[in-house]
Amino acid sequence: VGTAARLYTEEDPLVILSSSSLKPTVSNSSSAWLVQFYSSWCGHCIQYSSTWKALAQDVKDWQQAVSVAVLDCAQEENFDVCKEFSIKFYPTFKYFRAHSPETDRGTTYRGADREIQSVRQLMVNILQNHTKLDWPDHCPPLEPHSSVELLPLLGQRSDHYTAIIVEEPDSYVGREVILDLLQYSGVEVKRALSSDLPLLDALKITTFPSVYLLHPNASHTHLHVALEGLPQVREAGSDRLVDRLVDRLVDPSVNQVVSLCRWKVYTADLESALHYLLRVELATHNTLEGEELKIFKDFVTLVAKLYPGGGSVVKLMETLSDWLLSLPLQRIPYQAVLDLVDNKMRISGVFLGAELRWVGCQGSRTGLRGYPCSLWTLFHVLTVQHDATPTALENTGLEGEAAPVLQVMRRYIRTFFGCEQCGRHFEQAASATLDRVQNREDQILWLWNQHNRVNYRLAGSLSDDPLFPKAPWPSPSLCSSCHEEKNGVHVWNQDNVLHFLRQHYGASNLSPKYSL
Ligand code: FAD
Repeated sequence: VGTAARLYTEEDPLVILSSSSLKPTVSNSSSAWLVQFYSSWCGHCIQYSSTWKALAQDVKDWQQAVSVAVLDCAQEENFDVCKEFSIKFYPTFKYFRAHSPETDRGTTYRGADREIQSVRQLMVNILQNHTKLDWPDHCPPLEPHSSVELLPLLGQRSDHYTAIIVEEPDSYVGREVILDLLQYSGVEVKRALSSDLPLLDALKITTFPSVYLLHPNASHTHLHVALEGLPQVREAGSDRLVDRLVDRLVDPSVNQVVSLCRWKVYTADLESALHYLLRVELATHNTLEGEELKIFKDFVTLVAKLYPGGGSVVKLMETLSDWLLSLPLQRIPYQAVLDLVDNKMRISGVFLGAELRWVGCQGSRTGLRGYPCSLWTLFHVLTVQHDATPTALENTGLEGEAAPVLQVMRRYIRTFFGCEQCGRHFEQAASATLDRVQNREDQILWLWNQHNRVNYRLAGSLSDDPLFPKAPWPSPSLCSSCHEEKNGVHVWNQDNVLHFLRQHYGASNLSPKYSL
């Protein structure tokens, strides 16, 4: 098997083991290990590799307590060691406790569920299966604390923050957050159970999971009040800590924590879409020339003309657009665009936020929602804004197209969108039906309909965030008049859908809250 067939590379956030490194790595280790024995010719292993990489990324910060590894049994040099470890099927998952002897051949995980969340919970269980004697050196206690231990901490000064997560006994949130924050100093996470009545009374907690934060200065508050800034947390910006904590808090607490409103569209998501698009997605292109350059110019022009509300984003896009149009060049190094976005804009006080912040597009964990969600949102907003300001695109060269927003979107997605498969699907749909779009109303509805087709297709797939399941949208709770029944069959009332979309994605429904 050549290297080309290997499913994992050094860039992946996991350890690639071989016959010579397996035993020295997993035995007598200060951490536990979870190893996937795979075969690079096994179709399922190939498909599953993206999940395993996403898992490894997700639990990267846990590695001092439990580490993730792979070993390719299809490599000739590994044949013997796979036999010695009795690997008969691929993939086989084995875990090794911390401080295990050299004779240990690992324990096989036989569960059928290999989704990220289940494996993550398996990893927590592996850790909790240790005894005091072989407990991984750097793993903090995962057991719940009682009110007897916790209440005396209230009102006490300390040199660090203490987050108390109060949760139901079967919840993994507390333990996951403890492990997420393993690498951080300045904050300690302790869990407590919802059955601990004296604690609930003292902290006035009624919903779970709830997070209580004890400050070094002896004050204590609920998470959503206190997480605004944790200046003493070292090695990590407070934002990351917030993200991590919020990431792990399951619905409805997510919404509670950041007081999200499903009826709003957040400018933070739109700005983050542009930030990601300009600084990450396009930055993978060293130069832009010919057709690509034209598509990029059109995209920038479209956003400059249609992004609602004016402000920094529009100024930035206008400057970028003017600059691109003034260039006589057929080919520009992308670095020049980045320089403009990063430096010149900052000097003139015009900038896109320096960070990504998903609000309406925040997934329940890393890797879900985020950028693709924000890109859909951006284009929905642009279709509605085009309808509201019909002359905005005059003299841009785009005014001649029947569906300029969709055409620019189509070209952008086809040429630059990082998810190639998505681009192909979208292009298929566009080439089949886009020519039927006659006017700005059709444009809004075409995108809505196309987005719903993708939702249907993806419902229940791996990219489906369990807390934001893909479903026909808008749901009856968002817009009951959008739904009708004819002869016992559900139909959309398209007039009402159009009305709803205009309102939902309209400028006045944009919330600047949490904006960058
Ligand atoms: P998203 O589907 O991203 O929706 C974002 C938000 O838009 C929702 O929260 C909701 O508020 C709103 N919304 C939902 N449906 C509609 C609608 N019909 N009309 C208007 N607003 C709506 N992933 C794949 O795995 N395969 C693909 O082929 C694929 N194709 C894609 C094509 C494009 C052009 C884009 C931008 C993304 C594509 N994706 C694809 C990604 C996928 O569609 C989701 O964006 C991603 O899985 C994140 O999902 P989400 O739960 O955040 O909701």
